[in-house]
Amino acid sequence: MFLKKWIIILGLLLLASFCGFPSKALAGQVFDDVPPTHEAYEYINYLESMGVIKGYTENGRRIFRLADPVTRGQAAKMVVIGAGYEPLKVSRSSFVDVDPAKNPELSGYVERAASLGLFDNITDNRFKPYTNLTRGEMSKVIAKAFKLDIEQYASHPSPFCDIPADHPYFKYINALYYNGIAQGSNGKFNPDSHLTRTQFALLVARTMNSQFRLDVKPVNQNACVPEKTDTIGRATVNNLHVRSAASGSAPTIGKLNRGDQVYVISINGWWAKINYKGSVGYTHKSYLKLLNQSGSKVKNRIIVLDPGHGGTDPGATKGSYQEKQIALAVANVVKQKLEKDGATVYMTRTGDTYPSLQDRVDFAHEHYAEVFVSIHANSSTSSSAKGTETYYSITANDNELEDYALATSINNEIVKQAKMVNRGVKRADFYVIRHSVFPSVLVELGFISNGEDLSKLIDSNYQQIFGNAIYQGIVNYYSK
Ligand SMILES: [Zn+2]
Repeated sequence: MFLKKWIIILGLLLLASFCGFPSKALAGQVFDDVPPTHEAYEYINYLESMGVIKGYTENGRRIFRLADPVTRGQAAKMVVIGAGYEPLKVSRSSFVDVDPAKNPELSGYVERAASLGLFDNITDNRFKPYTNLTRGEMSKVIAKAFKLDIEQYASHPSPFCDIPADHPYFKYINALYYNGIAQGSNGKFNPDSHLTRTQFALLVARTMNSQFRLDVKPVNQNACVPEKTDTIGRATVNNLHVRSAASGSAPTIGKLNRGDQVYVISINGWWAKINYKGSVGYTHKSYLKLLNQSGSKVKNRIIVLDPGHGGTDPGATKGSYQEKQIALAVANVVKQKLEKDGATVYMTRTGDTYPSLQDRVDFAHEHYAEVFVSIHANSSTSSSAKGTETYYSITANDNELEDYALATSINNEIVKQAKMVNRGVKRADFYVIRHSVFPSVLVELGFISNGEDLSKLIDSNYQQIFGNAIYQGIVNYYSK
């Protein structure tokens, strides 16, 4: 009996195909322009069945418009529905370009998406619903809407050569990759490109349904090691370990000796990511002298300035003149000049306060200092003592040659520019310079106890000269 029934059904099917019945009815084709042979057929039908997409109706036919770019408004609707949110009804729109009275459906999805913080590039209260979505924006929209484990992959390597670790969408793109949702093309993600409705549908379907997910291939970090970058790192010590990851316990893949040069790909905290013989390697950045290959020598360098004393500690005094004021005035000049050249400058104090010596050391470490310059004025019981001297420390420090080079460079410039007596570069284990491996020096500009030096130290024109000399000394250090 059953068999008979099946034969009848088969016969009808055969007949149907001869009679030109649309085959889509049998195969479940929903959209005229998405035939079963289309690569996205399954995904698009799935999304339609889930109510995520409706497509368009044209002359009584349903079509999807596969090749059209997906707009921000369309993306908002798809992810709000797909992730199970309700449209957010408002009487007054948050956006001047979305009218809830004229277009209540769009408004509901856009308001919900915005309330979830899914979309960037909202400027002047414009959501730009008809602007095409970029692939970068897409990564955040999908990762956040569907609550992917974004932070879990935030420090994983990116498989995409065009997505550096500081890219604004880095962690969202990683979340898509490591969840088997996006694979990019030819090793690139193309974050500024737009994507078609088909591509967006594929991504949403994969996110919603784990059956559609892609196999996640291990990331070959060496696939996109740049041959050259704008920053050369020159090893300052021998036997510098190059590790396979940014961790002191990661396996060593090689060693550098003082003077060896590598291209620096990026810097994160204490770790420099480098091109080590064509592979990605990591070294502690304090043992690389970072040399910019274009523009200012101090661009992007992290420099901590330490105006000595402060607050209840005036330092050396002469009458009403106080070392703490001189040090801060000169440090401010140095800061301004370095920043103009693109350096990142931090000051251990910016006002009349007293950070402890340990505070100052901690501060420099918290900011991943690359050089540290403490600024002081000298004093002596002998009023004839005068001139500039600069100190460096070698206690617990492999970088003494760099300390010495920086101290010499700064000391020479001060002597030259401010026409000071040269008392030379000296070794002394002052607290603020003996606890750091990055080059750290302490400058004694001149003697507050000497009439000639004092007249310069308190003169605002000379403070400019002292500041400029320290700035130039740092630039010269990075020029060699
Ligand atoms: Zn002092």
